[in-house]
Amino acid sequence: MTEKLLLNGICKTFAGNVCAASDVCLTVNEGDFVTFVGPSGCGKTTVLRMIAGLEIPDSGEIFIDGRDVTSLAAKNRDVAMIFQDYALYPHMSVWQNIAFPLRMHKTPKADIEKRVLEIAASLELDGLLERKPSALSGGQRQRVAIARALVRNPSLCLMDEPFSNLDAKLRMQMRSELARIHREFDMTVIFVTHDQSEAMALGTKVVVLKDGIVQQVDAPQDLYQKPRNAFVGAFIGSPQMNTFNAMLVYDNASIQLNFLDGSKLQIPNLNAHLNALTFLEPAPTAPNDAVVEKEVIVGIRPENITILSQYTSSFINAANNSDAVEASVQYIEILGADSHIHVRLFNEDAILRVGSEHNLCVGQNIACMIDLKNIHLFDATTNERIYAM
Ligand code: ATP
Repeated sequence: MTEKLLLNGICKTFAGNVCAASDVCLTVNEGDFVTFVGPSGCGKTTVLRMIAGLEIPDSGEIFIDGRDVTSLAAKNRDVAMIFQDYALYPHMSVWQNIAFPLRMHKTPKADIEKRVLEIAASLELDGLLERKPSALSGGQRQRVAIARALVRNPSLCLMDEPFSNLDAKLRMQMRSELARIHREFDMTVIFVTHDQSEAMALGTKVVVLKDGIVQQVDAPQDLYQKPRNAFVGAFIGSPQMNTFNAMLVYDNASIQLNFLDGSKLQIPNLNAHLNALTFLEPAPTAPNDAVVEKEVIVGIRPENITILSQYTSSFINAANNSDAVEASVQYIEILGADSHIHVRLFNEDAILRVGSEHNLCVGQNIACMIDLKNIHLFDATTNERIYAM
């Protein structure tokens, strides 16, 4: 794999002591589609602007194609950037907009002609070349912006929330279109969004940022299954991961979670987990009577809680249903294909996801089963992941 971009400890602090990037390190390989995601103000745009050369880092280095570009002007970086508002020239036709970067680089006329027609054809813009941007739909304008960015075969294509002005349907359409363009042109893309589902759907690699600090860089599925801390766990996934405060109690014979409401859950497959827990201090080599306790945050995704068909507490109390837990329904969101059931579970708020067919109602007590193989444990003090069951 050829390295396209390397960020080596870049930092940027703005006036007022706002830290927009702190020691950001990242390797992007040729052909990667990297998405930057995080809450508003976490530094996504600032990092992108530093890669483009529109902002200079306070410290750290940026390499593109192995060349140190940290102090190189934007125009010399061979990087294309697509902005939120597309920034098309309103007085120019689609043809002139796409040709503009080539004309600026004094490309011979015949080559401009050939290249514009080629790129317009692959982005299905060939019938629109004489129109002005004002006579185009949002999706068509977006495609012109992409065509203009790609016409010079840039080394790297940067996109800052390029779909934010589109309605939900067009957004979905542009997502799959962009995925196709990425494959077809074999380009390297860095894409900023605050929408975690967009970041997951498009990215081959997702970078999660918070307060200017990279929280995790991973493939979407790994991010979902093995969030490195409670923030990533809750940020990635919709509806978000449920989190509960609990005490992890273990000795060399059992591991148990004690929740705020007094509920207790025994973690099965003791041997498989004891090794994973050994980095906790003190290690669980204690004899049976030396119990170790640790405050944890238990993360459980909505799809890992199943509602049992029996809804009574007597069902839970029955000896062979000891793994079932009781919840009370607070609110039901009907979304069409499925419904989100807001409940109180372990004395905390939680969301369960069920199909559209259910006979639940507000105020009802229900029995649930938690898939203990798929729970996540985070250290309550550091928020770092202890272990995903
Ligand atoms: P959003 O999703 O809202 O666009 P973001 O993650 O892209 O946010 P940035 O725009 O990179 O975040 O901003 C990071 C932080 O730096 C914010 O607190 C912002 O207010 C601050 N900031 C950005 N640019 C400047 C600037 N030119 N001067 C001062 N502060 C700035």
